[in-house]
Amino acid sequence: MGRQRWRSSGLTFKPDSLGVGRGLQAKIRCDEASKNTERYTMRDDYKQCAQCDEIAPGTSEFCRKCGHNEFHELSPGLASKLEAIETLANSESLRMEAGRLIIASVLSGGLYIFYWLYITWKQLAKETEEEHFPVWHALTWVVPVYQLFRLHRHTTVIQSLATGAGVPTTLNPSTMVALALASTGLGMASLLAVSPGVLMLLGLIGIAVTTTIIVWSQGALNAYWVTRHGDKLRSAPIGAAEGLIVLFGIVVWILTLA
Ligand SMILES: [Zn+2]
Repeated sequence: MGRQRWRSSGLTFKPDSLGVGRGLQAKIRCDEASKNTERYTMRDDYKQCAQCDEIAPGTSEFCRKCGHNEFHELSPGLASKLEAIETLANSESLRMEAGRLIIASVLSGGLYIFYWLYITWKQLAKETEEEHFPVWHALTWVVPVYQLFRLHRHTTVIQSLATGAGVPTTLNPSTMVALALASTGLGMASLLAVSPGVLMLLGLIGIAVTTTIIVWSQGALNAYWVTRHGDKLRSAPIGAAEGLIVLFGIVVWILTLA
């Protein structure tokens, strides 16, 4: 490999978009590590004009803004800013910790599964290279019987990705479908519940079952994400829909308990 000037993990630019195509192309040709020539980091390969502080590629002879021909290294502040941008640009925000899922699922009274089905199906679209319709997919959770097929599909995708990546997993689509059936059964039983106490109990068990489906499946998915992205893996940001569904659940909780 020899000396490898271009790092494979960095902000990517099309050289021409910076208007410095020629200089960079020449530099790329000199590089032995041809595999990595398409990606390089700003921090390593850029400098700043000594007169106007314009950022210029390392190969520039003159500043394209003011024409000055002296340069200095990127200032520490700018370099660390760029480093932070690089880190962010390279990170994959996909992980969802069990604690977050449990809290959200319980607070939302089990409604969180809609969001979970939506967000993970959306994330998985990249992996399956199939067209995913996350919103419709999530909404199928209200369709009796069909919901079971969709959940089966959802967990099959996760299971096969994990298995394919060599992640040992206990996730089993049939078990998830059985849990979903149990949750439906609890829902139907609650229609016949005679006392508020029984109703509450059935509701709580139903929430526990739904939460189990989410946490179990996400466990396998998190393990897969680690094999796929390693150190670049970050937690998924809290979505607006996620916040709303939990907030709605809290209101329902308050009305139920009041
Ligand atoms: Zn300048």
